[in-house]
Amino acid sequence: MGLLDRAGARLTSHPEEADILVVNTCSFIDTAKQESVDTILEMARHKTSGSARKLIVAGCLVERYRDEIRKSIPEVDAVVGTGELESILEAAGLTMPAAPASSSPFTILSPTQVADVRSGLESRAATHKSDIAYRPEGDLREQQGRFRRDDWQGATHLLPTYLYDESTPRFLTTPRSSAYIKIAEGCDHPCTFCVIPNLRGKFRSRRFESVVAEAQSLVARGVQEITLIGQDTTCYGEDLGLKDGLATLLDELARIPNLRWLRFLYAYPNRITNKLLETIAKHDNICKYLDVPLQHASSSVLKTMKRGAGADIFLKTIEKVRAAVPGIALRTSFIVGFPGETAEDVTVLEDFIKEAKFDWLGVFSYSHEEGSAAYALEAQVPKRTIESRKRHLMKLQQKISKQSKQQWIGRELVVLAEGESEETPLLWEARTQFHAPEIDGKVYINDTGELDALEKGRFYRAQITEAHDYDLVARITSPAL
Ligand code: SF4
Repeated sequence: MGLLDRAGARLTSHPEEADILVVNTCSFIDTAKQESVDTILEMARHKTSGSARKLIVAGCLVERYRDEIRKSIPEVDAVVGTGELESILEAAGLTMPAAPASSSPFTILSPTQVADVRSGLESRAATHKSDIAYRPEGDLREQQGRFRRDDWQGATHLLPTYLYDESTPRFLTTPRSSAYIKIAEGCDHPCTFCVIPNLRGKFRSRRFESVVAEAQSLVARGVQEITLIGQDTTCYGEDLGLKDGLATLLDELARIPNLRWLRFLYAYPNRITNKLLETIAKHDNICKYLDVPLQHASSSVLKTMKRGAGADIFLKTIEKVRAAVPGIALRTSFIVGFPGETAEDVTVLEDFIKEAKFDWLGVFSYSHEEGSAAYALEAQVPKRTIESRKRHLMKLQQKISKQSKQQWIGRELVVLAEGESEETPLLWEARTQFHAPEIDGKVYINDTGELDALEKGRFYRAQITEAHDYDLVARITSPAL
């Protein structure tokens, strides 16, 4: 969006107003693929009705089904994979030097032009690939076939190598006070249920200075909360030869004046180092929040998932985290119904959830993905069993969450006001440092104290007055901080 905006396109979120439609897709599980395809078909209708001139499909679905998308949905004019973001301009016809004069600034590419664009991209990707130093684990896993796409008909065999930098234009769609920064791309882990490495490529970190420069410029634009993301942020910098890369990066970013909240998502469990925890504890503006997807707790399931460890090891890690950063909020997610998962495995997971008492927890149904190593496993768990296991565990977590949220009543905390509640204008929605944007429960403000009104994107002090299963209710106790 930043590139298109810089090139002079006016962006709209109303498809009926658009000349060019861009569908950014996801492809990591079946439901995401279905949603992506449904959206493409919905957008294609705007093209057939004549209201839009052009339809571009971008993102992970392109990495997986590049040729198939164009073959099966002829309304699609161009596809842009995850490794070729900059080609969105060429695909949109915005910078084509030989664009024919027309009343529209946009040009529809012919199949030959599209083929030219694609071969240009592939040769750029091949050149770029030789410039990048990967982690030894990534190189080894590549030799072992981790990133192979040979069976993916219609996909290019070239893995994405793209990384944006601080000079890449960005168009923020998040509220003015918050922004995400992607610090790394790709993943070298061998998790057998996951095709993300095949879609996104080998792990590669953005340059340290580039991330710092981007964070500084976002804060200068009024951003007060930064969330660092990547498939595995805890590997950050290993390919750059940095020791304790994420901790060092957090330490540097936390010093940016006026950055109030800094957090990172998606820690790999065995990469939570003492240095990382010390850094979280050391800075007031690093949120006391850790999202560590564990995927399961039964050691036999984790072994087949090629993730290793088990409940005992995880409990020790959690103990270490809580001791180093008292009061830290922990989020995790689990997959149920992985092939071969038995009722005993679920009991192990259940006991673990009871003991670990996570602040936030998600349970996801296993999705059998063609192209993943687990696709070859035969001991499938029936769908109904998967759904009943999921319901059971979520109910358990609901009880745990309800009890723990009661302990929040009376606490006075800093909250970020996010705007009027979608449910009723009588309530405002807010978050504490223990709530990541868009993921965790909410804090509803039903009493603005001495203030007539709240301001979106401002921080206030608030006292928690009620607690529900996942959400909290609070009243403002002091004006904007
Ligand atoms: S660490 Fe995450 S992204 Fe990487 S392979 Fe495992 S599940 Fe997939």
